Amino acid sequence: MSNKLKELLKIYEEASKCTLCEKFDKRSSKEGTYDGLINFFNEKGLYLNIPSIWTDWVNRSNSKIMIVGQDWGPYVDMQKYNARYKELVEMGEDEESAWNTIVNEKESMTKCLMTEFVICSAAQCGIDIDEKIMESCFVTNAVLCARKGENYRGTNNFSAKFCTENCTKMLNKQIDVVHPLVVITLGYWPFYSVCKYHNIPVYKTLKENISHYSLNKENIINISYENNPIYVLPVYHPVAQVKKEEQISLYKIMWEILLQYYSKDTLINELRTYKYCREELNL
Ligand SMILES: [Zn+2]
Repeated sequence: MSNKLKELLKIYEEASKCTLCEKFDKRSSKEGTYDGLINFFNEKGLYLNIPSIWTDWVNRSNSKIMIVGQDWGPYVDMQKYNARYKELVEMGEDEESAWNTIVNEKESMTKCLMTEFVICSAAQCGIDIDEKIMESCFVTNAVLCARKGENYRGTNNFSAKFCTENCTKMLNKQIDVVHPLVVITLGYWPFYSVCKYHNIPVYKTLKENISHYSLNKENIINISYENNPIYVLPVYHPVAQVKKEEQISLYKIMWEILLQYYSKDTLINELRTYKYCREELNL
């Protein structure tokens, strides 16, 4: 097992002990349970067995591109993905192929648009790629705990600020371990999380943060203190009411950064770091 993978698993082990998001209301019910989010990391059989681009961490620990969303969504859907995977395997499908089949499904509007923006912005830089590029991205969320109920949106027992601040340490530890060259943050809260952790001033609106930290090349954030930089690029959430061209132009900045480090000819090969590690982890 690579050191990165070991370190990553340590982070998830540490996350399993966190109860901050659970205690949304700080009061427990008669049964002693809390009303907030669900920390699914304490379910050993579940947290590394959710076939989704947002939770396919172990196969992507060497990624040079990292994408951070807000939160995964409802816990019941995590269980559904897990159940579908088990079902495919029970029906005789090879584990690796069952896993990849589900991870690479269209899944959500967010994922579809994000994929489109990555591909279109690459094309504008003369880089020809297809959906497979998404395998080269380590994708995670600012909030690592899962929602109760069935909704992906709304504020029922969910506060973006409260939960983001609770999980800030866990997100930023993941960034440190993976050490990508570029981190793309989707929407306000993932960017807020990175900035808070590194004492970088955050503007009140996402638009201001994007103007200052993405569009002004001199202000692009590098959070690495070593020789290998980690650039952080705030972008709009893919489903935000923002013109596609504007969204794509932000992803183009990522390619421009990558092209400073790798030639156009070797770039895609350099980015190809996906390695199916589930077998060696006995998953
Ligand atoms: Zn949490």
